[in-house]
Amino acid sequence: MIRHHPDEATLLQYATGAMPEVLKIVTATHLTFCTVCRDALADLEMLGGILLEEIDPLPMCGVVRPPASFIDLGPPPIVNPDLPAPLNRIPLRTRWWPVSAGFWWRMMHVPGPGWGGLLWGRPGSKLPRHRHRGLELACVLAGSFIDSSGEYSVGDISDPEASEHAEVAIMVTGSEPCLCVLASEGMHLRGILGLMQRIVG
Ligand SMILES: [Zn+2]
Repeated sequence: MIRHHPDEATLLQYATGAMPEVLKIVTATHLTFCTVCRDALADLEMLGGILLEEIDPLPMCGVVRPPASFIDLGPPPIVNPDLPAPLNRIPLRTRWWPVSAGFWWRMMHVPGPGWGGLLWGRPGSKLPRHRHRGLELACVLAGSFIDSSGEYSVGDISDPEASEHAEVAIMVTGSEPCLCVLASEGMHLRGILGLMQRIVG
């Protein structure tokens, strides 16, 4: 059962497309697990459609078609069959980097602002996490972790309120390792990603 969902504002950003691609991937991963958010997203999209219908359309000048190369592009191939959609189609760097005692990090190749990747933690490992300005999302793919807002299991998404100062630690709970997909829109990062940016970037 999913206990942690994205904030309404985060889901709205996803619905309108006003979200960096790398954060869309984390949100979409949660959506594959969560019917509640899929329904909420359908409502938002319907509302968006109604609002668009109320705007008078501009006269069209000729037929606008996307270039053929866009039409021919199907979905990218599955490159990570062990990961759930949409992560199974996202290219990853081959190497896992140690980032802190018990934690390893693997970058995703995603165009656009922000950055993200996979975070793997050994049971009982702790990692300081400094919340920062802007969105930082993490969705659990295996195992579980705990922070000051509770425990996060498979499918749960962490969408902490942006704050310059709030500091939380996460700890991997249970006997299984924890695997998350994590992304941030920040350019100068402070949280887990800031640590990884200094080590890996
Ligand atoms: Zn949800």
